[in-house]
Amino acid sequence: MQPGSALVVEPSIRYAGRPDRVRGHLDSHGVEALAVTDLTNVRWLTGFTGSNGSVALLPDRLVLVTDGRYRDRAADELAAVGVEAEIVIGFNQSDQHDAFVAAFAGVGKIGAEARSLTYARWCTLGAELTLVAADGLLENERRVKDSGEIARISAACMCADAALAEVAPQLADGLTEADVRRELEYRMRCHGADGPSYDTIVASGPDHSARPHHHAGNRRIVKGDTVVIDVGAMVDGYHSDMTRSYVIGDPTAEQRHLYALLLEIQLAGLAAVTAGATARSVDAACRSMAIANGYGDWFLHSTGHGVGLLIHEDPFESPTSTAELRVGDVVTVEPGLYRVGFGGFRIEDLVVVTETGCRILTASPKDTPCPPSPPTI
Ligand code: ZN
Ligand code: ZN
Repeated sequence: MQPGSALVVEPSIRYAGRPDRVRGHLDSHGVEALAVTDLTNVRWLTGFTGSNGSVALLPDRLVLVTDGRYRDRAADELAAVGVEAEIVIGFNQSDQHDAFVAAFAGVGKIGAEARSLTYARWCTLGAELTLVAADGLLENERRVKDSGEIARISAACMCADAALAEVAPQLADGLTEADVRRELEYRMRCHGADGPSYDTIVASGPDHSARPHHHAGNRRIVKGDTVVIDVGAMVDGYHSDMTRSYVIGDPTAEQRHLYALLLEIQLAGLAAVTAGATARSVDAACRSMAIANGYGDWFLHSTGHGVGLLIHEDPFESPTSTAELRVGDVVTVEPGLYRVGFGGFRIEDLVVVTETGCRILTASPKDTPCPPSPPTI
């Protein structure tokens, strides 16, 4: 469990076997070992959650190099998840560098995470080790979630669902976007989340809700507005991600039409998700329907992305994606329609890919753009 994590979620995440799964890909990348320097990958491989650490993944062992702040925590965290690794503490950067290099003694080509390794560190490590870019080697395994990971993502979804169920009935009460964001983030914590998964998006009115990633501000939500709320929670390091869209007051005919169309588009996207389908085909299912209905230029972003220890990770459902969906992938389906002057709508669910389709993890109602009425006392 993450230090300070409020929820206890079962089952445990299975760490055993991860190093061997990654080792199984070393040959095809032409390397004998992997220098794991990306902290998300370090965490996935070992359970270590500190802010400084590198792992040498060797043919027969793991070595974690970190600093003195994490001497006890690293030992505790690895023991808690049953990961066996040699932990080496370097009390300054130079010691850590030397220990990391020493761990690879006698190894030839070493895979390195070129996309996240800084150029400076590539140069210092590369002066003593033979580095080969091996991006995606570990991520290829990380993207498929086990039952413990799905349980955490699902718990995070429930925190966001519960918070939205409490806050959505207040949307017509004259709150500002920032008020709504604050309430959602506070209530997610009340329901057990470790915090928000990302900066909660509350976008209202004809301009703000037309921006897919608007920063919530002091605009007051008024009758007639379209409101886009993109809210997710964190549980034990795992993210959730969901968007619901609303109209305040009675929707106009255009608002009703656009919302109904978007819902149809989103359902078509969900229907396209299944193991073996290409990620690109999920995007195409949504995009083609928007285009066929004359709203191609209202469709501003890709249809979805993977979610896990990162809020955006493989696989991405974009028109150029080459990924194929696998059982255990956790992805969003989040088409949106936006136009300055009208506003916008986005409907986003988080799903886990199965053999025959997908299982939806987010549960907030989406049949209508009208927020639920406040409970009567
Ligand atoms: Zn989102
Ligand atoms: Zn998303």
